[in-house]
Amino acid sequence: MEDVKMTARSLMEFLDKSPVNFLAVKTVKNELDANGFKQLDPADHWELERGGKYYITKNGSAIFAFVVTTGGPEAGFRIISAHSDSPCLRIKPNAEMCGEGGVVRLNVEVYGGPILYTWFDRPLSIAGRVVLRGEDVLHPECVTVKFDRPLLTIPHLAIHFNRAVNEGNPLSRQKDMLPVIGLVKDSLESDGLLVRLVAEAVGRKPEDVLDFDLSLYDTTPACLVGLHEEFVTSGRLDDLSMVHAALTALTSTTSTTQTRVMAVFDNEETGSGTKQGAASPVLCQLLRRVTGCLGGSEEDYLRSIDNSFMVSADNAHAFHPNYPEKYDPTNHPVVGGGPVIKINANCKYMTDADSAAVFRGICEKAGVPFQYFVNHSDVAGGSTLGNILTSQIDLRGVDMGEAIWAMHSVRETASAADHAYTIAAFKTFFDL
Ligand code: ZN
Repeated sequence: MEDVKMTARSLMEFLDKSPVNFLAVKTVKNELDANGFKQLDPADHWELERGGKYYITKNGSAIFAFVVTTGGPEAGFRIISAHSDSPCLRIKPNAEMCGEGGVVRLNVEVYGGPILYTWFDRPLSIAGRVVLRGEDVLHPECVTVKFDRPLLTIPHLAIHFNRAVNEGNPLSRQKDMLPVIGLVKDSLESDGLLVRLVAEAVGRKPEDVLDFDLSLYDTTPACLVGLHEEFVTSGRLDDLSMVHAALTALTSTTSTTQTRVMAVFDNEETGSGTKQGAASPVLCQLLRRVTGCLGGSEEDYLRSIDNSFMVSADNAHAFHPNYPEKYDPTNHPVVGGGPVIKINANCKYMTDADSAAVFRGICEKAGVPFQYFVNHSDVAGGSTLGNILTSQIDLRGVDMGEAIWAMHSVRETASAADHAYTIAAFKTFFDL
């Protein structure tokens, strides 16, 4: 079994290095490089070695790593999928808004479905991707940027101006959520402030900054909480804890019976509908290309898919002791109870009895507990990657995750033990 404290520490380091999707992919990429994986350029001709370790990135915000089977092209794939993105506040173009007293706010929009009020009164900063002028207009230069020091805060209105704030407080995404970045003398100083800041951070001139994908993040690091340090609290546990578990399993297992794949998509939180999202053909094309590189035909590809299995890993709702009425009476996973198999009669999840049984078998073989999540029948649940992927690839698979509290809060809470259990289950899956 995995060491609980050690895996929790490794997870927390991973989370702190990965404040937004682009940085999460960079963290994964660095880890793959350190473990001997080679980056492939989709524009090149590929020569894959049996047993070789490779990866590709897409848009800098999705990453797909694989270890090639030593078997035939029809051997099939063992896939763990997860997502790099988390709900957050994204900075709009021309973001500076200079007001009374020289207070500068940044104009932002909401990405995905965050619990908005958890973003107030925190030390926030900025991270993401900056696109720079290059030689080739069609291929500008892309670099990541992460400001480590706290740069912004979203101050809440004082209770004296809204005595009913604790009785429910509807928020406007445009009015209430704008972060303050500082005080300036006049609007001349505020115009272009963000671009100047970013240019300085990446060592270029402001006129070279052509565009950016920048979001806010909470600078408070991940930490252990609880009497026995049994909880991990951090931003972005959904779904970076699953990315971390998949990465740890991929880099520490050795089986080459089938091609082992880790697929980290972007934009799950907005419906997966981008070129780097799970609804795109990116994974399907990768698997087909790997089969082709092994000398396989289209028939071999279809045979390999028929031999494959996917674990679609995205976190689940843990039973919250203050709200028992929200949960299914018999299937409410608890924090610390092991990986969660997610089931839905209306097929929001790809799990069926066959694939649930497979995952149960994996947990049993790994010696870890497991539990089931089914929605309270009067509560509409969320959806995830599994079913979206099966519209692209005819795969068997299971939807699972770790049970967490406060999903989509700026800070979520999970169990340190569950993370060790999940890694053990993923390793067993890859090594079967
Ligand atoms: Zn998720």
